[in-house]
Amino acid sequence: MKHKIEGFLDLVRQRNGLEPEFLQAVEEVAETVIPYIVQHDIYHGKNILLRMVEPERAVMFRVNWVDDSGEIQVNRGYRIQMNSAIGPYKGGLRFHPTVNMSILKFLAFEQVFKNSLTTLPMGGGKGGSDFDPKGKSDNEIMRFCHAFMSELFRHIGPNTDIPAGDIGVGGREIGFLFGMYKKLKNEFTGVLTGKGVTWGGSLIRPEATGYGTVYFAQKMLQTKGNDIKGKTVTISGSGNVAQFAAEKVLQLGGKVITLSDSSGYIVDDNGIDEEKLAYVMDLKNNKRGRISAYVEAYPSARFFPNKTPWGELCDIALPCATQNELDESDAKTLLDNGCVCVSEGANMPSTKEAIVLFQRAKILFAPGKASNAGGVATSGLEMTQNSLRYNWTRKEVDDKLKEIMGNIHDKCIKYGKDEKTGYIDYVKGANIAGFVKVADAMLAQGVV
Ligand code: NDP
Repeated sequence: MKHKIEGFLDLVRQRNGLEPEFLQAVEEVAETVIPYIVQHDIYHGKNILLRMVEPERAVMFRVNWVDDSGEIQVNRGYRIQMNSAIGPYKGGLRFHPTVNMSILKFLAFEQVFKNSLTTLPMGGGKGGSDFDPKGKSDNEIMRFCHAFMSELFRHIGPNTDIPAGDIGVGGREIGFLFGMYKKLKNEFTGVLTGKGVTWGGSLIRPEATGYGTVYFAQKMLQTKGNDIKGKTVTISGSGNVAQFAAEKVLQLGGKVITLSDSSGYIVDDNGIDEEKLAYVMDLKNNKRGRISAYVEAYPSARFFPNKTPWGELCDIALPCATQNELDESDAKTLLDNGCVCVSEGANMPSTKEAIVLFQRAKILFAPGKASNAGGVATSGLEMTQNSLRYNWTRKEVDDKLKEIMGNIHDKCIKYGKDEKTGYIDYVKGANIAGFVKVADAMLAQGVV
């Protein structure tokens, strides 16, 4: 088996040697999916996984825009259309200076499995730009978004490819992107998700990724007769996913003690309660400030520059910032400190070595493609509402989100539970469940 996996990975490495994040994502999938393929004749001789690691299409384009001082700026835009076997491409747009082909291909590849897990008919894609929104005025953001969409619009559409937000792309950016798409195409369609509720958005979409990550943690804890109530939780990030993960933990009776951004983390031993969280939301979403300002507002808290929060004592850790933000030594510290559950809100936040330690210790560990799927699932619900030209209530959407997270958890058990030991390998479960649906559709559609 090792030989088969290595043979496959060698091929992928030859073609994508300069793309470390993409290779990391493929390795994790190959190690669990190839043994499954070997056991199931229908997938033999079809090169399904080799087809799945190749994007159906990848576009890269120039984005010119004029900054407030009249200078012409040049950025790169991308859209990776990874797999459309089970539905139109769907996945977020990331605006961050680190964006490149490797990062977007890893995200698009993960998205294919994640979208398959949601049970909704969505293929996988991802896109974005190396544009850095930090420190830009609202007008600069608008001009950039308009310039970006003036090329992207020809590659997407409500039945072709439906982007959403990701790091650096929230409600404000989706608004500007949607405005330009509508103008260029002269049609009002559900081509983007994460829209404002008065113009086609869904209630609960902003909350969905963070809420879903916590619902998934709750489901995992229930398998051990445990729950979130009374637990101490460390969260990284302070953006969309982190904020609503914190909100849901508080609603379920847990105590959140950390948040972070790329400048460091804050720890508040008294707990970040609803009032303090409202302060963070205003700081991050309206004032666009840094998390370090928290200790000025709440002097009993402490700020640690350029550090991640994984050294703080906790029962549950929710990494909600970015890829590879939790490494082997962080995992060791979390385990030494008695952490029993890690539910990933971000995409691939734990390194491969960190995951090995969590699984060896047999704690509850959920990979992002399962635990953060609530965001794209609710985007799928937004698409349905757009097609129906109808809006569901907050409760209706939240109930569907909970149901979907429960279904994903069940699938992870179906494909990931070791019947002898009872241990649930959520990585294996999510990878195989995600793979089966896409692979079966690809088989049915032939070599296209
Ligand atoms: P936001 O832009 O709203 O927030 C990102 C947060 O992560 C910020 O606090 C940011 O800090 C921090 N961060 C970003 N890059 C780094 C870095 N290199 N080092 C340390 N901190 C960093 O993004 P989201 O909350 O939407 O996304 C967070 C994660 O969740 C990403 O991995 C994303 O792919 C994933 N995700 C998001 C979904 C969604 O619906 N939004 C859906 C599924 C997954 P700073 O402000 O300093 O940059």
